[in-house]
Amino acid sequence: MRISVVGGSIGGLTAALVLRNLGHDVNIYERSPHELMQRGAGIGLLPETSRYLTDVARMKIDDISISTSTIKYLARDNSTLHETNHEYRFSSWNTVYRKLLSCMSKDNYHLGHEMAEWSDVNVSPVSVSFANGNSVESDLVVFADGVNSMARASLIPGSKPRYSGYVAWRGMVPENEISSEAREILGDSLTYHVYANSHILVYPIPGFDGEVAPGKRLINFVWYRNYASGGDMEDLLTDINGEQRDVSIPPGAVAAHHVAEMKAHAVARLPKAISEIVSKTTDPFLQVVFDLAIPSMNFGYTCLLGDSANLARPHAAAGTAKAADDAWALGDALASTSTVCEALEKYNQTQSAVGHQLIQRTEDIGRRSQFDGTWVPGDRDLIFGLKAPGA
Ligand SMILES: Cc1cc2nc3c(=O)[nH]c(=O)nc-3n(C[C@H](O)[C@H](O)[C@H](O)COP(=O)(O)OP(=O)(O)OC[C@H]3O[C@@H](n4cnc5c(N)ncnc54)[C@H](O)[C@@H]3O)c2cc1C
Repeated sequence: MRISVVGGSIGGLTAALVLRNLGHDVNIYERSPHELMQRGAGIGLLPETSRYLTDVARMKIDDISISTSTIKYLARDNSTLHETNHEYRFSSWNTVYRKLLSCMSKDNYHLGHEMAEWSDVNVSPVSVSFANGNSVESDLVVFADGVNSMARASLIPGSKPRYSGYVAWRGMVPENEISSEAREILGDSLTYHVYANSHILVYPIPGFDGEVAPGKRLINFVWYRNYASGGDMEDLLTDINGEQRDVSIPPGAVAAHHVAEMKAHAVARLPKAISEIVSKTTDPFLQVVFDLAIPSMNFGYTCLLGDSANLARPHAAAGTAKAADDAWALGDALASTSTVCEALEKYNQTQSAVGHQLIQRTEDIGRRSQFDGTWVPGDRDLIFGLKAPGA
């Protein structure tokens, strides 16, 4: 089949690779004019996200990620409140993207292709046209166009990501720039500090060029902070050039008064080891936290995948895992049915269930930490994963 994948990030790339390996003629169309850069910094690396790289491309997990051995909760005075042995894998968005891209032929990865419109999804072939004037006909179109998906907005009128009430401040510091005390505390753990209406997590990730050796890594933080909708958010999301953003503000573009407030708050309220990371971060950035459950992921000869479909909050570190799991499930469905529409029906059944349970779990975690104050260190429900612990 001729398959077009719209959106060339982790979800789109994984889908294209899986479907290409099934023998289909697959092309990716990405709106960015150049290869994507350092989006989202660190990620908790779940098996679904690394599955293509380890199982098909035969890369070593230690070459693409770092392992930590404990989950730790720090008290305000820097002492350890709670610690459990639990291995996690961390990587960076950049490392995973570059490795997946290296598996894809450049001839089938088309940059500078912003989807503008498409023909009736119920009539095959579906024609997709791009802002640059090109168009393509396909037997199946996979929309992997992310959180602000144009395809989702058009196929499901009225579907709009729901603001959670908080944003994630993010940043990272080279490990060799932090004190030996902070390195000792943070270097081998996923470290949390949970306090009134907020929580922050810190973990090591590969260096800017994917280095995984101790000393060359980065220490990454994700800090969830509440901002009211309206003026509070509007001011935060107005970048240094006065542009009003809606989903995120990249490194270097957050207004100086907000960076100053965030760093002062870190010194006043966070354990010293963690506030050191925040203070030493040169270009913090932020991502608004949304979620959205949609009723269906398949529409005629097209489907939604990853964040363009069901959108979950990041507390289970499962966003890329969900996108990759959708990709594998789409491959399985196409391989085990005889028509595209039958396959997409099957895909919708399994993946809607995966997406909906993740939204429910992460909404619960967010509510407990940011609003209810009922987060208990050591609770198994807080363990990262695409599915609930033990499911
Ligand atoms: C604070 C925060 C922390 C997170 N932490 C983690 C974590 O630890 N682990 C994890 O797995 N996930 C994490 N995530 C989630 C993760 O970043 C996303 O779930 C993941 O990137 C989704 O991948 P995707 O390919 O579906 O969409 P995206 O990565 O958003 O990619 C969409 C692509 O489509 C392209 N595009 C958009 N519109 C068009 C168009 N019209 N035409 C052509 N191309 C288009 C975009 O340029 C982009 O490249 C986190 C998210 C947030 C907000």
